Amino acid sequence: MINTDVVIVGAGPCGLFQVFELGLLGLKAEVIDSIPRPGGQCAELYPDKPIYDIPSIPVCTGEELTNNLLKQIEPFHCGMHLDEEVTTVRREDEETFYIETSAGKKFTAKAVVIAGGVGSFQPRPLRVPDAELFEGKTLHYRVEDARLFHGQKILILGGGDSALDWVLELVGKARHVTLVHRREEYRAAPASVARMQSLVAAGTMDVLEHGKVIAISGADGRMESVRVQIRDAETVEVPVDHALAFFGLSPKLGPIADWGLDINRKTINVDTERFETSVPGIYAVGDINFYSGKKKLILCGFHEAALAAFAIKQRLEPDKKVHVQYTTTSPIMHQRLGVPD
Ligand SMILES: Cc1cc2nc3c(=O)[nH]c(=O)nc-3n(C[C@H](O)[C@H](O)[C@H](O)COP(=O)(O)OP(=O)(O)OC[C@H]3O[C@@H](n4cnc5c(N)ncnc54)[C@H](O)[C@@H]3O)c2cc1C
Repeated sequence: MINTDVVIVGAGPCGLFQVFELGLLGLKAEVIDSIPRPGGQCAELYPDKPIYDIPSIPVCTGEELTNNLLKQIEPFHCGMHLDEEVTTVRREDEETFYIETSAGKKFTAKAVVIAGGVGSFQPRPLRVPDAELFEGKTLHYRVEDARLFHGQKILILGGGDSALDWVLELVGKARHVTLVHRREEYRAAPASVARMQSLVAAGTMDVLEHGKVIAISGADGRMESVRVQIRDAETVEVPVDHALAFFGLSPKLGPIADWGLDINRKTINVDTERFETSVPGIYAVGDINFYSGKKKLILCGFHEAALAAFAIKQRLEPDKKVHVQYTTTSPIMHQRLGVPD
């Protein structure tokens, strides 16, 4: 059990900046995200694209913004729990919330901030009859231990970086690798595509372009072969031990919908003074919240995180007045930031 001041659901830009604002006020946070890296949409959907509307940063990519936020929160040593979805948020008593993740990790916190963006990113599934019977056994949407695939007949589905990276990683280690992609243009890095094409030309692996898996054969979760349809016409039967599907991630509100909050069409209603939800002690910042005039912009989420932090501090210390202090001049903030006076 991890006991902390605040649990933050979501490590997107607003969740990360929430750590900073809480840290300035002396509050400790643990951040949890269902995807394996921090940065939310910036890292997952547009790491290389330039952002032009972060105050005082004329231009930075989604990845640079994430890296800068991670640097900025370093002094606060927050716990970062990635690749685990928050499944449960429940009030234990007047002062404590109980939080649990898909990995079975348990937390108690005095407040919760939901910075869940457009929801937790889930892998897009392979839509083939009975695919779920193979899922987690021989059909995989993420790689937990690549050694499982060594010496095996591997089918990789997709045309993005994840698919091509795993093709290049497994050729030579797997018994055989076949890549199936529904187009002939790839979203993956051109260098990876060129390398894959040279492996195909050398006869080291196979690729089926304009291909779509239409059936899986096997029993008891063990895959034997898949049927691939090419250009909506001929079909090919490919012998397969394991299939790895990388069709990208799509956001789903997921378990947040079950936490008893006032939900408004996949967003959470909050007030604009504290950014508190309908459950006292649970706050929501960034793309996930809704209030009159809401704009889904990073800089709006940063403002919301600042006000939520003040509200949480006030909730945890109701008898004290929470003063605004400047990072430029406040000795206590310098101490928290590790700035030598
Ligand atoms: C292509 C594109 C370009 C954009 N360009 C700009 C721009 O130029 N300027 C701008 O201001 N905005 C831009 N945006 C919007 C901006 O990215 C979002 O406003 C911002 O990412 C919202 O941040 P967030 O932290 O609220 O949520 P997100 O970035 O969505 O992060 C939320 C995180 O919460 C996690 N999560 C959700 N539910 C759970 C759960 N139950 N358990 C664990 N984790 C969970 C998700 O996995 C996700 O990582 C752009 C968006 C896109 C798609």
